[in-house]
Amino acid sequence: MASPFPGGHTVTIPGLDGGPVELSFPLDTTTYMIPASNTYQRPGYALTAPFRAVQHGTGNPNSLAAGDAAWVHGGADGIQESMHFEVDDTEGFQLIPVNEVSWQAADGAGPGNMSGVSCEMSENADLWADETRRGNLIRNCAELLGRIAARKNIAIPQQHYDFNYNDPNRHDCPYQLRHVAGAWDQYVTLWQAAKADELARMGKPVWAPKHPLPRKTLTSNGTAYFCFPSPVTLKATSTVTPREWAGADAAATGPDIAAGTNASFSHITADSSGALWLIGTGGSRCPLAAFI
Ligand SMILES: [Zn+2]
Repeated sequence: MASPFPGGHTVTIPGLDGGPVELSFPLDTTTYMIPASNTYQRPGYALTAPFRAVQHGTGNPNSLAAGDAAWVHGGADGIQESMHFEVDDTEGFQLIPVNEVSWQAADGAGPGNMSGVSCEMSENADLWADETRRGNLIRNCAELLGRIAARKNIAIPQQHYDFNYNDPNRHDCPYQLRHVAGAWDQYVTLWQAAKADELARMGKPVWAPKHPLPRKTLTSNGTAYFCFPSPVTLKATSTVTPREWAGADAAATGPDIAAGTNASFSHITADSSGALWLIGTGGSRCPLAAFI
């Protein structure tokens, strides 16, 4: 299959270890970089591991990335807000080095702010109304955070919505990605492909789940998924066979997990009988009953 990433734009991303990254769109890392002297929007705190990838949508139907970045760089009308990247269908801008904290997740000193690499996706109305432009936009954002995920050992793509879960006014963000049919699945597939491609470029083993990780959406068989705010590690209480799908008759994805062994999970779901299954950060499904 041809790569979904045409490449052609090599850039050194401030704060990112491992040398330049090749992207499919130009990323401007200087024009709207918030100066270190502006500690209100750029506190200068070191981003702390384990790192996260936090995708946002701007909520602004009238602007593209340059306009959104200029607004934030210009002080965001006094709001204490910042993000690492503003991206649209043709270009992106960096505002904070990726080894520093940006103020975007509305979770205070929580993992979204303190550990998150943040990307604001343009929600320009004309762009979203154009299927080709929308495809390029989703690809650009997914590629940027997916490649950074490989460099910073980030497990899964996450939404702003995953982080401010204690907030009664929880942000429905990224709004377009969450509400346009198929958009999030398209994003996740490309995010994983970009991470795998970057790992291959780094000479590392490629993490490539067989199926896209699901979200809090309804699947074709009506099953709801829940995504943990961050991956959880659980110990198997009995020997368990990881499977491709949630169901005892699904194909095994690898060797059994022995009782007493730890495994990491990012989601929970149910099979057709209603039994609950955990979904590993690599995409395999395991019965919840084997971990409680
Ligand atoms: Zn957001």
